[in-house]
Amino acid sequence: MASANLARVTTPADKRIAPSIDPGIAPAATLPGVGPALAETLRKLGIERVQDLWFHLPLRYEDRTRVTSIRDLVAGESAQVEGIVEAVETSFRYRPQLRVALTDDSRHTLVLRFFHFRRQQAQQFAPGVRLRCYGAVRHGQQGLEIVHPQYRILRSDTPVDTTLTPIYPVTEGLGQQRLRSVIEKALMRLPGESVLELVPSDLLASLGLMPLRDALLGVHRPAPDTDVTALLAGKHPAQQRLAFEELLAHHISLKRLRARVRRQRAPGLPGDPDLQRRFLAALPFTLTRTQQRVSAEVARDLEKRVPMLRLVQGDVGSGKTVVAALAALHAIANGRQTALMAPTELLAEQHLRSFRAWFEPLGIEVVWLAGKVTGRARMAALDKLAAGAPVAIGTHALMQEGVEFARLGLAIVDEQHRFGVQQRMNLRDKGAGAGEAPHQLVLTATPIPRTLAMSAYADLDVSTLDELPPGRTPVRTVAIANSRRDEVIRRIRAACAEGRQAYWVCTLIQDSEQLQAQAAEAAFARLSAALPEFAVGLVHGRMKPREKQAAMDAFNEGHTALLVATTVVEVGVDVPNASLMVIENAERLGLAQLHQLRGRVGRGTQASTCVLLYQPPLSALARQRLETLRQTNDGFVIAEQDLRLRGPGELLGTRQTGEMGFRLADIIRDAALMPAVQRVGSAMLRTHPVLARRLTERWIGAAARFAEA
Ligand code: ADP
Ligand code: MG
Repeated sequence: MASANLARVTTPADKRIAPSIDPGIAPAATLPGVGPALAETLRKLGIERVQDLWFHLPLRYEDRTRVTSIRDLVAGESAQVEGIVEAVETSFRYRPQLRVALTDDSRHTLVLRFFHFRRQQAQQFAPGVRLRCYGAVRHGQQGLEIVHPQYRILRSDTPVDTTLTPIYPVTEGLGQQRLRSVIEKALMRLPGESVLELVPSDLLASLGLMPLRDALLGVHRPAPDTDVTALLAGKHPAQQRLAFEELLAHHISLKRLRARVRRQRAPGLPGDPDLQRRFLAALPFTLTRTQQRVSAEVARDLEKRVPMLRLVQGDVGSGKTVVAALAALHAIANGRQTALMAPTELLAEQHLRSFRAWFEPLGIEVVWLAGKVTGRARMAALDKLAAGAPVAIGTHALMQEGVEFARLGLAIVDEQHRFGVQQRMNLRDKGAGAGEAPHQLVLTATPIPRTLAMSAYADLDVSTLDELPPGRTPVRTVAIANSRRDEVIRRIRAACAEGRQAYWVCTLIQDSEQLQAQAAEAAFARLSAALPEFAVGLVHGRMKPREKQAAMDAFNEGHTALLVATTVVEVGVDVPNASLMVIENAERLGLAQLHQLRGRVGRGTQASTCVLLYQPPLSALARQRLETLRQTNDGFVIAEQDLRLRGPGELLGTRQTGEMGFRLADIIRDAALMPAVQRVGSAMLRTHPVLARRLTERWIGAAARFAEA
């Protein structure tokens, strides 16, 4: 220890540890017992080096330190049970099945059920044999049961485990046991702090975090006196230290990505005042001061010969689209192309309509490219893009192979949180011409709290539209129990009788488009019958684009009074005359999504109402969500509250979190670490670039090595 400290004091930071003496970068195959076959299997888990094993962290833990009495078992939870075999039964009627009845001192019985078993295995379970088993308890035909428990036969007093059992991500051909023993061997090579720590000690000092070595040992081999509750919740100091480091690695990699993009050249895109004047004169409204300010920020970026990386965030209905259109005008004025990508077809279509309405009178062609554009239409669209058509609007289809732009100058991504950083970068790679990269403009209606923005958007500059266009009337929100549906239908009738329009939104927990469509069709039938005097429309994700369009057009033009829809209306629908929205099963949705939905009303001058229909009884969390919506229309307050209630990944959508691929960190749970992550990250990039690179390699591994290429 003394010599290690000495080394830390006397050697210059970045050369302190020559990588050659870091045992972590040796190939995993140098560990005893890791032959070519195992090395190959490990590679499937992204494990190539010894350090990849150190940082292959447990997904969760199993608690086999206690034996639960059968009487106290709870369905849905995992438990360890010990008892005597009472009866054994094998049957082969439909499929092979082995059932073992186990009882313990509580005189209750648990059934162990096996569908795959060998004869000798069945013979082990003679009545009177003592078993200890572990597994997930569930309701079976004869009371509680465990299917395929892990088990062992006890012949003498066998103490229970003293530590929690880590459960690792595994892969075919490599089970927990074997992987655990390989990790154990790798941990034997864990060097002392001075070699292991990559974050300079002066930066770490004030943070009060556990040393990295202790943290790694703490998560791989939790000590018997570990705070089990904290560990299971991911809040143990060992996990917090690792979460800090993982967030730091991601932060640094986003910052490096930004630096790399900014090292490229972009076409300078000064505005054309005359074109802009004509565009603004034809708009049916004047820009708000906020829109002018944000557009000016974007314009300044676009004039530079460095790629813009800017996020425009603004609440639902704040008018981001016209800001995007103004940016596109800069590209157009300079003979460059703009590509606008949206996450859903409906949202993309909405943009298509706005852009065509604004641009075509100015003689600017807008090309449409979505997944459903196929055959000759697709070929024609591709030809136009390759020939330099000024504006392309579409979905993921814009990023597919075979889509080439002649002179891409600006890539716009709407609702960025539904895409990953990687996808945005793919659009960037669609080519701007010789040695140039396009400018990037990202729009989001999910105004995320600052700490989250730091981790998710570390590579972007941020502009905020913090004012709604004038003439909006705040939406009044009420929560009504399902049992009072009739009352809600009377409200719809009253609104429609006054010539106003309404949405009825059907929601389901499942993400299945088919089930959603069925629910919407059923609601459509019920509401058509209940409101025979009004025209009712229907739109859901399973309809053909043409049918969807027809239903939307009919609603847009006021031919239908009530539109029954799935959450496809969440984004991109804009009918100012619609002043009532009913959301069925509102208790099932997260705050952010409810807020998005509600944003479809309150777009005109008349007072609007949003009815949250719910199925009692409400959970405490659902009650708080509905209450928050009743109290505020402010997207920022709602996002903060969402973070506080920690709704299931609503804030950024699970997708993004998944794509960021954290092993252990949770950007919501660990949000409090972000200010320190940001501080340490910029300091490391400034003064210890080599250590910063090694840190990202360690955590992001092969992906980081790839990204550097
Ligand atoms: P979002 O930020 O949710 O994408 P949109 O760009 O779709 O918002 O704008 C919402 C609505 O507000 C649209 O109907 C748009 O035409 C209108 N709008 C935008 N800017 C203004 C403005 N300055 N004055 C009046 N209406 C505006
Ligand atoms: Mg929008």
